[in-house]
Amino acid sequence: MDLDTVIARARSVAAEVLGPQARSVDEEGRWPEPGIRALQDTRLTALTIPEDQGGLGYGLLALARVCEELGRECASTSICFGMHAVATSVIAAKATSTQQSQLLRSIAEGKHITSLALSEPGTGTHFYYPQTKLSLNENANLVLSGTKCFVTNGGYANSYVVSTVSADPDAPPGHFSCVVLPAGTKGMQWGPSWSGVGMRGNSSRSLELNDVQIPRANLLGNEGDQIWYVFNVITPYFLVAMAGTYLGVASAALDEARKNVKERRHRHSGASLADNQVIQHRLGSIWANVERTRALLYLAASKGDTGDPDALLGLFSAKAEVAECAVGVVGDAMTLSGGRGYRDGSTLHRMLRDVQASHIMAPATDTLRTWTGRALLSLPILSE
Ligand SMILES: Cc1cc2nc3c(=O)[nH]c(=O)nc-3n(C[C@H](O)[C@H](O)[C@H](O)COP(=O)(O)OP(=O)(O)OC[C@H]3O[C@@H](n4cnc5c(N)ncnc54)[C@H](O)[C@@H]3O)c2cc1C
Repeated sequence: MDLDTVIARARSVAAEVLGPQARSVDEEGRWPEPGIRALQDTRLTALTIPEDQGGLGYGLLALARVCEELGRECASTSICFGMHAVATSVIAAKATSTQQSQLLRSIAEGKHITSLALSEPGTGTHFYYPQTKLSLNENANLVLSGTKCFVTNGGYANSYVVSTVSADPDAPPGHFSCVVLPAGTKGMQWGPSWSGVGMRGNSSRSLELNDVQIPRANLLGNEGDQIWYVFNVITPYFLVAMAGTYLGVASAALDEARKNVKERRHRHSGASLADNQVIQHRLGSIWANVERTRALLYLAASKGDTGDPDALLGLFSAKAEVAECAVGVVGDAMTLSGGRGYRDGSTLHRMLRDVQASHIMAPATDTLRTWTGRALLSLPILSE
């Protein structure tokens, strides 16, 4: 499937399924099942699986662009899709032949949703320092125990990519292992349903792992080599999925502002807000902000796809820039839309709440700025 077809499919799922459901997903805090099923039916959930394993074989730029299309209509569904895509990329990066034939095939056929369980209450935004324990029992099964939090698609995915401390006791700090945990495995206990300020369709729940046993074959890569995953797979794909999503929100907020200022007409003058030069000037600035942020994201994602050594710097900055752009643009769109934007239940009200997560979802904006600076100074990126 060529990229134009991929984007056209994403746009049509967004317009026909995500858009009409976005309001009720937000109001009811409901996992966006119809949207996810439509993404499975159109093969978009196979986006980042290599072609020789039955997938569409796309990388970072395609993920950014698909998430942008989805994020325009429903940020929650876009992040649910994005976490599936990141987890899929983690599985695909070093998949064994069994993982390819059993797991990736099923994902590629649209039969399996996966997700990412990295964050923990103890280490918060520092998702690369898990404390969940991994050990081997007498039956040579892996045993997991610990607590995960903010697991998007929690309770709805078919499997979860879970990070744990390295099984190797001599591994340096920051080295961890990733495993695939099938849904419903004995010892998994989900926390209460997710109720956030925004991103209310995410089902980002906490998960207790009480001596959960899984086959050794579910280990991804080699024990303890996962710092490689952090900077080669997890971070780039995670950053791009989030940046694409919130860029989509920013560009939809600009459209909402354009519509609102054209429609709003004052009786005393007969003029529309769109006739006002201050409003015109502000729209011009917002447009430039969205366009230059999109250009940075696409450039960084393209560099990531070609293995350019500067790609990571661009990706760090792109997610930070998108967060600042999106929060600013949605706020400006609300100002320009006046009372109709500020109304409870307006589209901008949902966007305003959703977009705040762009700064919080790890790596947080301040962390990314620091990482960029450290890389520019040739210092190790992780300082703690
Ligand atoms: C809607 C949503 C969906 C999510 N989905 C997933 C998911 O699917 N999988 C997953 O694993 N995680 C997910 N997360 C978790 C997310 O990526 C963060 O890890 C989590 O929100 C951090 O929460 P915390 O409050 O514990 O952060 P804390 O560690 O308490 O940090 C709070 C804030 O302090 C600041 N801060 C902390 N440390 C530093 C530092 N060293 N330098 C600069 N600033 C710092 C940052 O601004 C940070 O936002 C999700 C979160 C949200 C909100």
